[in-house]
Amino acid sequence: MNRREALLGLQHEYRVRAEAIRRDLGRSHSPDFAEQAQQRQNDEVLEALLAEAELGLALVNQALARVADGSYGLCLKCGEPISEARLNAIPAAEYCLSCAGAMAGQSSQAARLK
Ligand SMILES: [Zn+2]
Repeated sequence: MNRREALLGLQHEYRVRAEAIRRDLGRSHSPDFAEQAQQRQNDEVLEALLAEAELGLALVNQALARVADGSYGLCLKCGEPISEARLNAIPAAEYCLSCAGAMAGQSSQAARLK
């Protein structure tokens, strides 16, 4: 499958999701106090989902920029090609498996040292 098309599909999905969440967040609140409290809790969940969708969209946009300049599929850290399987699973992947693993390892090591 064409990577650019896969990324454009993802970009569309994230945009639609973010718009739907923004619409939900923009709705008018109930005058009922108990319902308002419930709605505020829902809003917090929605805001977290919106942040996730926006982050995903930003990563997809960066990946599309790399497709345009020809550097797509290369690890941003070591410059080695990212495996096909990884790109199939995560089309906007920025790092190869070993660099992503090393970074995850470093942060858990740092956590252990504290
Ligand atoms: Zn790497």
